[in-house]
Amino acid sequence: MAPYSTEMLPAVVIYCAGSDDVISAVNFARSRDLLVAVRAGGHNVAGSSVCDGGVVIDLSRMKRIEVDPARRIARAEAGLSLGEFDAATQSHGLATTMGVNADTGIAGLTLGGGFGKLGRKYGLTCDNLTSVEIVTADGRLLRASATENADLFWGVRGGGGNFGIVTTFEYRLHPVGPMLLAGSVLHAYDHARDAMRFYRAFSSKASDELSLDAALVTAPSGERFFNISACYIGPVDDGERAVKPLRDYGTPVEDRIGPIPYVQLQSAGDANFPRGRRYYWKAQFMREITDQAIDMLLAAYATAPTGSLLVLQQVGGAIARVPIAETPYVNRDALYDCFPISIWDDPGDDAAHIRWARDLWDAMRPFSTGGVYANNLGDEGTDRVQAAYGENYPRLVALKSKYDPTNFFRLNQNIRPTL
Ligand SMILES: Cc1cc2nc3c(=O)[nH]c(=O)nc-3n(C[C@H](O)[C@H](O)[C@H](O)COP(=O)(O)OP(=O)(O)OC[C@H]3O[C@@H](n4cnc5c(N)ncnc54)[C@H](O)[C@@H]3O)c2cc1C
Repeated sequence: MAPYSTEMLPAVVIYCAGSDDVISAVNFARSRDLLVAVRAGGHNVAGSSVCDGGVVIDLSRMKRIEVDPARRIARAEAGLSLGEFDAATQSHGLATTMGVNADTGIAGLTLGGGFGKLGRKYGLTCDNLTSVEIVTADGRLLRASATENADLFWGVRGGGGNFGIVTTFEYRLHPVGPMLLAGSVLHAYDHARDAMRFYRAFSSKASDELSLDAALVTAPSGERFFNISACYIGPVDDGERAVKPLRDYGTPVEDRIGPIPYVQLQSAGDANFPRGRRYYWKAQFMREITDQAIDMLLAAYATAPTGSLLVLQQVGGAIARVPIAETPYVNRDALYDCFPISIWDDPGDDAAHIRWARDLWDAMRPFSTGGVYANNLGDEGTDRVQAAYGENYPRLVALKSKYDPTNFFRLNQNIRPTL
């Protein structure tokens, strides 16, 4: 079990074994007017899954999962990590969109939207949600789907933990792998400007099967590189053909593209984000990567502290074809999520690392859509929560006032019950 922070001490942590425990925990906290935090995977960098002096409703022991391979459906409890979910579904050759770090919780990820390698082919995680069981602020256990409590079902597909505690998620699955073609090519920093232009052209023409992320990175030696990572959702041979232009481009200093089991790919980033280090990032969406944006990114990365990355995560594809009104998630027309990530260890370096990421974010603002992924928000205030939900925000406020009029669930990217 991951330890709780020593800087924040809840009055009580309630480890739930199922929905009945969650109902009791909600009723207990409400009757005593206690602050409530909800913890599933405990992975959110905003730290909203813990609170000082209040109640933490901890779902991390709720790990049942049933996979129905014939109907291609998985029913999963809220305490599962992505790694546990992927392992269970891949044992049937199936998967649905999940993130890129195996110890992220499925709960927080799904409720905020959910990006991952399958996103361009099959949509966001929340686009693959078919129903939930949810405990509301008044202690009722409701089922929400397209046909039952449809308004609530709309809200949980991107609106975060604002409307209740989801105890079980039901997902649509797709045949995936088990072997896929994936990996990355690394270019010397001297060639980064041209390689970024190539990335822009290649990624903008990519099919839904091909997902291309990019990053400016620094090796432990201090040497900088431009990295392009690719993943093809389909037969490995088709993937080889699809990524050939990437492998043929320029003179990469390293080419690590090859067949890899999907489950292994899903935990390939884990080593970069161990628990216990210090992290800060600040994200915004982009519709295109202009030449000016490339120049700005390179100039800003020149001052990056060691250990910092600048990530461009490709979205689009199937994500973009879901109508905006269908779920709370509005950033459907974005093609890249752009975010600087600072990683460090010494608390004495906090200010320098946070400043660098914020300065880079500010510099990139003119190139952004103004939108942001709710799961990439820290404690950034109501304006940024509104930016995450855009035109869907008023509908979320109305839903919040129906299901949680006292804002009982408020340690989240909070939607207040009144405008
Ligand atoms: C290293 C790293 C990599 C990441 N990669 C990705 C990625 O590839 N794709 C992506 O989409 N996101 C990614 N994220 C963001 C991730 O989706 C969010 O941090 C998400 O909130 C984590 O969910 P959790 O259950 O682990 O979080 P927790 O910290 O347990 O919960 C976060 C918040 O979600 C709400 N919540 C959680 N469970 C429930 C529930 N059952 N019912 C109601 N509310 C609930 C609560 O408000 C809680 O405060 C990444 C984050 C990190 C730190």
